[in-house]
Amino acid sequence: MTVKEIVVLRLGHRPERDKRVTTHVGLTARAFGACGMLLASDDKKITENITEMSSRWGGDFFVKNNVSAEKEIQKWKETGGKVCHLSMYGINLPDAVSELKKQQKLMIIVGAEKVPGEIYELADWNVAVGNQPHSEVAALAVTMDRISESDPLTAVFEKAELTVVPTAKGKTVLHDNELKNKKT
Ligand code: SAM
Repeated sequence: MTVKEIVVLRLGHRPERDKRVTTHVGLTARAFGACGMLLASDDKKITENITEMSSRWGGDFFVKNNVSAEKEIQKWKETGGKVCHLSMYGINLPDAVSELKKQQKLMIIVGAEKVPGEIYELADWNVAVGNQPHSEVAALAVTMDRISESDPLTAVFEKAELTVVPTAKGKTVLHDNELKNKKT
């Protein structure tokens, strides 16, 4: 069993200081197989940047700006989804992986500044990626890797304009017309 649908809910984003990290949360969510990111703050630039990246690198990843975290959690639960909040204070990931893998729909919540206590109550699991403080990007990547049945590092993104050809040295990137030519 593997999780079919993952969305990431980003809490506490402060536009004046979290732009890079929140962008990296979104890009990591996309690269490791999430369907989209819900941003519980108003920062349209984040949505635009990630959407633009996704259109060039493929897949159907979405970003929804300025959501209400509580409403999104409630809607998610009403459609049978479960909620996993990543926090260094939670149960350690190795003890939660088998339960998480059984879920069809999983919302993964990551914070920035202090996460409101209510989120700990609303979550089905508060999960730590080790009980030491580190980063929401690292926590998300490790979690998504551990709960995935297939290897997220070899995922293929459909409708990509750009595709990297793995190369020992230097950089090789194919544009979609070059890819089409290669296939025919
Ligand atoms: N000081 C904040 C608090 O107590 O809620 C956390 C700040 S931390 C830089 C930002 C986010 O990274 C957290 O909300 C959590 O989602 C994630 N995070 C950091 N370390 C983690 C860990 N060991 N396990 C899981 N998530 C972690």
